[in-house]
Amino acid sequence: MSERKGYNNTHLKYRNRGIVLQLIANEPLSRIDITRKMGLTRMAITNIVTELIEDGYIEEGATKEKAQVGRNPILLDITNRSPLAAGIYVARSTVYAILTDIRLNALYIDEIPLKDETVDSLKEKICLLLDRLMAYRDEKLSERTILGIGVSTIGPLDPQKGEILNPKDFFSIEHLPLRSFLEERYRLPVFAENDMNASALAEHLQGSGRDYDNFFYLGIADGIGGGIVVERNIYGRNSISVGEIGHMCINFDGPLCSCGNKGCLETYATMPIIMERLKKASGREHIALTDFEELAEDELCDEVFSDVTEKLAYALTNTVNLLDPQCIVVGNEGVFLPEKYLKALQSKIESRILCTGYKSVPVRPSAFTLGAPLYGSAAVVLARLFAGELI
Ligand SMILES: [Zn+2]
Repeated sequence: MSERKGYNNTHLKYRNRGIVLQLIANEPLSRIDITRKMGLTRMAITNIVTELIEDGYIEEGATKEKAQVGRNPILLDITNRSPLAAGIYVARSTVYAILTDIRLNALYIDEIPLKDETVDSLKEKICLLLDRLMAYRDEKLSERTILGIGVSTIGPLDPQKGEILNPKDFFSIEHLPLRSFLEERYRLPVFAENDMNASALAEHLQGSGRDYDNFFYLGIADGIGGGIVVERNIYGRNSISVGEIGHMCINFDGPLCSCGNKGCLETYATMPIIMERLKKASGREHIALTDFEELAEDELCDEVFSDVTEKLAYALTNTVNLLDPQCIVVGNEGVFLPEKYLKALQSKIESRILCTGYKSVPVRPSAFTLGAPLYGSAAVVLARLFAGELI
């Protein structure tokens, strides 16, 4: 019993340290601010702050201006020698690396294109990127440690094993155990999430989902996927197939989907399908994502965008009825959908959900835009830090 109590107390202590660090990573705060936000005693906060200062995470900085008499409280801020997070994003045609600070500011970004890869050549490219990242850290930021390596990857992924399973159109690569391989080589903790969950974590920590405890991240790319943030945590962290909104049926008699079912959202609204429909409607051979605003002024293209919005609204209405998120963040290439369609999407959802008239569900574009899965790889590490696992 006493052992268990000891474990729980230690766990709680690290959890609280993580929460305090996350609050300060969001904005400089005084000890009194933190005490109010956390609901702990002033003594508990003083102890946590002292430890975080001793460990080099935070420092006392400017004083906060206030109207009342007495001493102005000192603000606590992240130090410029605090530890860093490394990330690797395995996309379908490129591998990226990133090094960020605790605020998810990128200090270094690198990439290598992929072509005709095997398991071994892909591993080599990932190691080359990480070796270059480590060399940069050694040369420019030698006083700062790296907390761990986050991996964000196209799915399907077994996040517990950190193993890429059998992604479609990915050089026939199957069963790539990245986590064990990277942990052994770099002697650092390695955490893996699929790219949608990783993107949702980036939005949660420093992006469009920052102000919400619960939100749904909708990623529109070659496929459509989702990341679910519940009570400021990723839902289904150990799941292989969570958030698969792309395979939600919105028409039981619809077109056949690659998954074998009919009428999935993915048969109507992936980016390649949207592009193909816009080319037909506009008569243009080439369309870039940055042309969307201009195309939206064309009547036939407007019909395509409106139909896509309608299809997304069906799936998201189901999602809101099921999960009750406070916000929907639209990301990946979906951020290029013109704002008027995101507004239309919001009003369609709000008019169809069960509690119409009582609930607002803001639909916001991703703050990290196309970079969300890459920043998300580092966010995977920071989420563990703030959960008290690495601190
Ligand atoms: Zn499907």
